Amino acid sequence: MRRKLVVGNWKMNGRIAQNQALIEAVVGGVRESRNADYVLCVPYPYLGQAQSLLKDTNVTWGAQNLCANESVALTGAVSAYMLADYGCSYVIVGHSERRMQFHETDDTAATRFNAAEKAGLTPIFCMGESKEERESDWTEYVVGRQLDSIIRRFGAEVLEKAVLAYEPLWAVGTDVAATPEQAQKVHSFIRDRVAKCDAKIAKNVRILYGGSLNPANAAALFAMPDIDGGLVGRCSLDAKSFVAICKAASQ
Ligand code: PEP
Repeated sequence: MRRKLVVGNWKMNGRIAQNQALIEAVVGGVRESRNADYVLCVPYPYLGQAQSLLKDTNVTWGAQNLCANESVALTGAVSAYMLADYGCSYVIVGHSERRMQFHETDDTAATRFNAAEKAGLTPIFCMGESKEERESDWTEYVVGRQLDSIIRRFGAEVLEKAVLAYEPLWAVGTDVAATPEQAQKVHSFIRDRVAKCDAKIAKNVRILYGGSLNPANAAALFAMPDIDGGLVGRCSLDAKSFVAICKAASQ
């Protein structure tokens, strides 16, 4: 039985002064919801604040990206070991905003995925098709290619310690979430593709849905057999909404 997981992705939001109230409200809201796991992925500068407020709670924390290199002359980059120093358990890899706005590729996402695992972090590997790709019936081709960028290079066994996230680009930040049936179809495709390489890993790997998740649609999405929780953008900035999504996962 896979345990559900809800990950908040704050993106480039937050200020020291407001983070504390948000984090404390989330911690208080999910304290008794013990049947799922919760993570907050905050901007790099707030990892120390997240660490001090979340340690000894049932909410863990992580980052939104990393650099694949270790200690080298790379201005502005942050390595997996630096994230580990701040007690991060998770790191998002290959988010569509990074792929589109920072020109990250399947290849560089796969390299960062591997660097995260080597440092003991759990990568949350994002995949998803654009609106045009869906309309051209390319969803499985695109998602399969993104998944294969990891499996071909490192083997399916690296998914044993990873989380996968299906985030259709047309649903991220748009208020148009995938229907439970649309999402389930792709999640089942992803799990079947992993199963072709390793049935046990496919059975255990958590596949999150992301894209306009909110308190009103979370329960129906989480009821699908291959949806193991959510990656939440905007609603993770509002404690009441985020806690409601976490509670839907903990049912
Ligand atoms: C995201 O960016 O990962 C995301 C799912 O955003 P939103 O929930 O705001 O659509």
